[in-house]
Amino acid sequence: MSGTGKRKEKNGTENGVGKGTGQNRCVNQKRCGSCRYLSLTYEQQLAKKEEYVRKSLEKGLVKRIMPVIGMEDPYHYRNKVTAVFARDRKGNPVSGVYEGGTHNVLPVEECLIEDALADKIIGTIRGMLKSFKIWIYDEDTRRGLLRYVLVRRGFTTGQVMVVLVTASPVFPSKKNFVQALLREHPEITTVVQNINPRTDSLILGDRQQVLYGKGYIEDVLCGCTFRISPSSFYQINPVQTEKLYGKAIELAALTGKEKVIDAYCGIGTIGLIAASRPGGRKAGSVLSIELNPNAVRDAITNAKRNGIENVRFFRADAGDFMVKMAAQGERADVLFMDPPRSGSTEAFMRSAAKLGPERIVYISCNPETLGRDLKVFRRLGYQAGEVWPVDMFPWTESCEAVCLLSH
Ligand code: SAH
Repeated sequence: MSGTGKRKEKNGTENGVGKGTGQNRCVNQKRCGSCRYLSLTYEQQLAKKEEYVRKSLEKGLVKRIMPVIGMEDPYHYRNKVTAVFARDRKGNPVSGVYEGGTHNVLPVEECLIEDALADKIIGTIRGMLKSFKIWIYDEDTRRGLLRYVLVRRGFTTGQVMVVLVTASPVFPSKKNFVQALLREHPEITTVVQNINPRTDSLILGDRQQVLYGKGYIEDVLCGCTFRISPSSFYQINPVQTEKLYGKAIELAALTGKEKVIDAYCGIGTIGLIAASRPGGRKAGSVLSIELNPNAVRDAITNAKRNGIENVRFFRADAGDFMVKMAAQGERADVLFMDPPRSGSTEAFMRSAAKLGPERIVYISCNPETLGRDLKVFRRLGYQAGEVWPVDMFPWTESCEAVCLLSH
C-alpha cells in the first residue's frame, strides 16, 4: 500500500518528460513514507536508482548496467489504490494509509502517484457511510463492517473496479449503496464485496460476492487484453509495464520455434505476449507457472480471450514445478522469471539450469535479491549480460530491472 497527501504544485513540464523540479509538496510526505524522493528532480531520482542497482550487484556480476528507463509523466501512475478506513477522535470516518510502521490511519484525500479518479471514488464512499449507517470496522473491538476499499482502473480500457472489504458478509442496504455510488461515479464498471474477518495484515479475504458488473476489469498491454480479478497481481504502472515487458521480450530474441517457460506468471501477461506478439516474432510454445489459483484462472481466460493456443498454465509452486520438470529430463529454450520481492529459490534455479535454456530473462522488483540470485546462476554456468533498470515507481526508492542471462 502506498500513498502521499495533497500535491500543491504540479512540477511536470508541459510535455512531461519527467522534469520534476524537486519541489513537490505533499502534506503527508513524512508520515506516509512512500515517496522518499519528493525533494529530488526526476533526473536525480533516476540517477539514484541506477546507483541502487549498481550497488546491489556485485562488481563483475553483470556485463553492463544500462541507464534507467524513465517515465514521461511520472504522476498518478498507480492504477490500484487501497485505502484503509477508520474513525478519527471525533468519530468521523477517515480513509488513507497506515502511518509508517504503525496502525494509525493517516487520512489521504489525494496523492501525487495514485490514480486521481480512484482517490475521488474513495472520498465519495467515505462521504456516503454516515447516511447509509455503515459502521467502520474497529481493529481493537473487532466490531463494525467496512475495513478497506480497493479501486483498480484499467489504463487503456478505462474500466473501474471497486472492492469493498468488509469484516462480515452482512452488508445492510448494499443494493442502495451501490446504486448511489454508481450515480456519483458512472465510470465504475464493477463492484465486489470481499469478506475478510481475519486479524492479520492481509487486505483481501478468501470469500467475495459480486455486487455489480462482472467482478473483474480488463486492460490492454502490448496488444493483448487481460482480465484482472480483485486478488490477482497486476503491475501497478501500466505505462512503464509496456516498456518493461517490451524489453524482456526483446532480450528473449524469440524466432518462432522456442519452447518457453514463464515462471511466476501472475495472470499470464509475459507468456501470453511472448506467445502471440501481434506483428512480431514469437515463442513456439509457452508453459506458464503461478501459485495463486485466482491468477491462474484469469490467465486461462486471458489465453482464450486473445485466441492464444500455444500456452499452457500450471498452478504450482514454481520451485517444485521446475524440480519435477528437471527430474523428468524436460528441456526449455528460454525462461522468463518474475519472482516476488523475496526473489527465487536455489531449488528453482538449480532445476532451471538443468532444463538448459539458452537465455534466461530475469525480471526483478528488488535489486538486492536479483544480486543474490545472479550469483547463484553464475555458479550454475549462466552469465548476466545487460541489466535494464525500469522506473515503475517514480518518487519512491523502488526500482525494477530486467536482466538477460546466457549460458
Ligand atoms: N509476471 C507477472 C507476475 C509477477 S509478480 C506480471 O508481470 O504481472 C510475482 C508472481 O509470483 C505473483 O503473481 C505471485 O502470486 C507469484 N508467486 C509468488 N510465489 C510463487 C511461487 N512460489 N511459485 C509460483 N508463483 C509464485
